[in-house]
Amino acid sequence: MIEMRGVSKSFGTLRVLDGIDLTVDRSEVVCLIGPSGSGKSTLLRCINFLESYDTGEVRVEGRLVGYVEGNGRRRMPDRALREIRRGIGMVFQHFNLWPHMTALGNVAEPLIRVRGLAAAEAGLRARAMLGRVGLADKEGEYPARLSGGQQQRVAIARSLAMEPRLMLFDEPTSALDPELVGEVLQVMRDLATEGMTMMVVTHEMGFAANVADRIAFLDRGRIIAYGPPRHVLHESTEPRLRQFLQTYH
Ligand code: ADP
Ligand code: MG
Repeated sequence: MIEMRGVSKSFGTLRVLDGIDLTVDRSEVVCLIGPSGSGKSTLLRCINFLESYDTGEVRVEGRLVGYVEGNGRRRMPDRALREIRRGIGMVFQHFNLWPHMTALGNVAEPLIRVRGLAAAEAGLRARAMLGRVGLADKEGEYPARLSGGQQQRVAIARSLAMEPRLMLFDEPTSALDPELVGEVLQVMRDLATEGMTMMVVTHEMGFAANVADRIAFLDRGRIIAYGPPRHVLHESTEPRLRQFLQTYH
């Protein structure tokens, strides 16, 4: 589903990604953990080419992302990039719902605008997606009247409505009050159980331990520990990883 080979990226003289090799298989859940500034968001953003990379290759479902194959490093045509992005959903820390639209409107609007669905059909699909994240009874509410956890679930529903084959999450619960984190993680856990391929940047070690098939620990742009949760969270003796984990226990 995702294949990264030797991916490096610098901002000026700062090397943010330094030779990333990472493979995510279909239906796998990979959690990305690491200190602030270690490159987690940048890595995620390279997968749908919100961020360009300097060297190496990123493939999604076998297709090279960002560059024309066999043609140096020429940027790929926008249409081809859109095609790849169609299959990828992304959920951020800040959910960015449209404040002037109801929960239903927020989920239905991209279906109408981007996918060209008729309003009635978009409404039906949006309603089904709100049900999937446990918000069937909130479809008529505006974001300001929803809790942070509910707003994030609407954002997840909005993403799922586009029928992605891969979901990228960048600290989806970091902006939430602690008591609202659980409901969002539960939706993500359900998605994982249904077989969604997911890459999740998170500081929720309990979620990583229970849901991830593999965990990658990123430090200064390098993956320095990788494997099943048991290995990364308990067995690895990497000093920087041990130090990082101590701050979360
Ligand atoms: P993380 O998500 O692990 O906190 P990021 O991928 O956001 O890390 O950032 C990694 C490093 O790259 C940080 O030092 C950050 O300041 C820097 N960085 C991120 N985006 C940019 C940018 N657009 N321009 C310059 N530096 C950036
Ligand atoms: Mg980040």
